[in-house]
Amino acid sequence: MRRRTGFLARVARAAALALAVTGSYGFPRVASAIDVLEVEQDGKPVRIEGKVLVEAVDGGLLVLDVDGTMWPLQPDEIKSRTTDDRPFTPLTAKSLEERLLLEFPDFRTLRTPHYVIGYRTSQTYAQWCGSLYERLYRGFLNYWKTRGWDLKEPELPLVALIFENRETFTNHARTELGDAASGVIGYYNMRSNRVTMYDLTGVDEFRRNGPRASDAAHIQQILSQPGAERTVATIVHEATHQLAYNCGVQVRYAANPMWVSEGLAVFFESPDHKSDRGWRTVGAVNQVHLANFLQYMATRPENSLLTLLIEDKRFHDPKQIPDAYSEAWGLNHFLANRRRDQYVAYLKRLAEKKPLVEETPQDRLALFKECFGDLRTVDEEFLRYMRKLR
Ligand SMILES: [Zn+2]
Repeated sequence: MRRRTGFLARVARAAALALAVTGSYGFPRVASAIDVLEVEQDGKPVRIEGKVLVEAVDGGLLVLDVDGTMWPLQPDEIKSRTTDDRPFTPLTAKSLEERLLLEFPDFRTLRTPHYVIGYRTSQTYAQWCGSLYERLYRGFLNYWKTRGWDLKEPELPLVALIFENRETFTNHARTELGDAASGVIGYYNMRSNRVTMYDLTGVDEFRRNGPRASDAAHIQQILSQPGAERTVATIVHEATHQLAYNCGVQVRYAANPMWVSEGLAVFFESPDHKSDRGWRTVGAVNQVHLANFLQYMATRPENSLLTLLIEDKRFHDPKQIPDAYSEAWGLNHFLANRRRDQYVAYLKRLAEKKPLVEETPQDRLALFKECFGDLRTVDEEFLRYMRKLR
C-alpha cells in the first residue's frame, strides 16, 4: 500500500500511548488460553476470540484473532473481556474457508498449499493467481534461506480475495481504505492480513475487447503485454508485504521504516517475461525504478539517503512518491547484493521490533549506522552501484 489510511492513522494515535507489552507476537508454540472480547466498532458489536498481544496503559489493546486479524482496540470500544479454557490455536484452512464464505456468501474458495483464495471470477483466474503466489512464496523463503535466514512458515494459510472487476473491488476497498481506494488495484491490509485484488483479465485495455481469458495460456498472453507488466507487479508487490509480515521478516504494527517495507516489496515484484507464468526470479533489476532513479540523481539532494532512512514523509507526499520508491528499491538492491550479511543482520534486528512501539528518527539512524557503518560511505558506494546497474 502506498497511502496511510484513516484506520492506520487511528492506530498511530493508539501507538502514541505508553504501553505495557505482553509475551510474543504470533501464535504461541505452547497453547495458551483464549481471550474472548466483546467489542463495539463503528457502532457494530463484534465478538473476538484471540490473544491479547499488547495492553496499553489506558486500557487499549492489540488482539490477534484466531483467523489472523489484528484488532487494535480503543478502551471505549471494549465492552467485556474474559479468558476461556480452550487453547488459543490458529484456524485450519477449512475453518478459514468457512469463515470467509460467511463474510462473502457469493464467493467460491480455492486452496493451495499455503493460500486460501476467495474469488468471484473464473476458477481459471483464481488458479493462475494461486500458482503465481505459490511461486512467490517459494521464491521468497528460498531467497532468504540462501542468505542464511531460515524464515518461519506462516502460522495459518494466507488469504487472498479476488473480485470480478474493478468496480466491485473498489466498492469493497472503499470500506477498508476510504478515499484511498480509487487508484488502487490491489492492497495488503495489515489488520485483516489479507491481500485483495480483482480479475485483471477483465480489464478492457488489456484484452482489447476480446473475451475474458478462459485458460491459463490466455491469461498469460493477456498479462504479459507490456502495458500489463506494472499491474501484475502490483499484485506480487502486495503479496510480498503479506509474506514479509507472516514469515517473520517484519512484525505487524511495529515501527517498520517504509524504505524497508516498500523497497523489499518492489525488490520482489519484478515479473519475468521469459517465464511462462510471468514471475519467477527474485531481485531482477526493476527497469522502471532504475530509469526513474537515474533521472532523480541529477537533482538528488545531498541528504537524500538520510531523509529516506529516518522519515517516511517522502512516501506520503504525492510529488515525492515515485523517487522515494525508486530510491528505496535501489537501496535494498544495493544492500542485498553488496552488503549481504550486514543487510540480513539489519533485517533481523528490525524483525525483533514490538508492535505499537514508536521510534524516533535518531533510533532509526543509530540502528542503520550500527549495521552498515558510516552513512557517507554507504551513500557513495550506493550511487556508484546504481550508475553501473543494468
Ligand atoms: Zn507497498
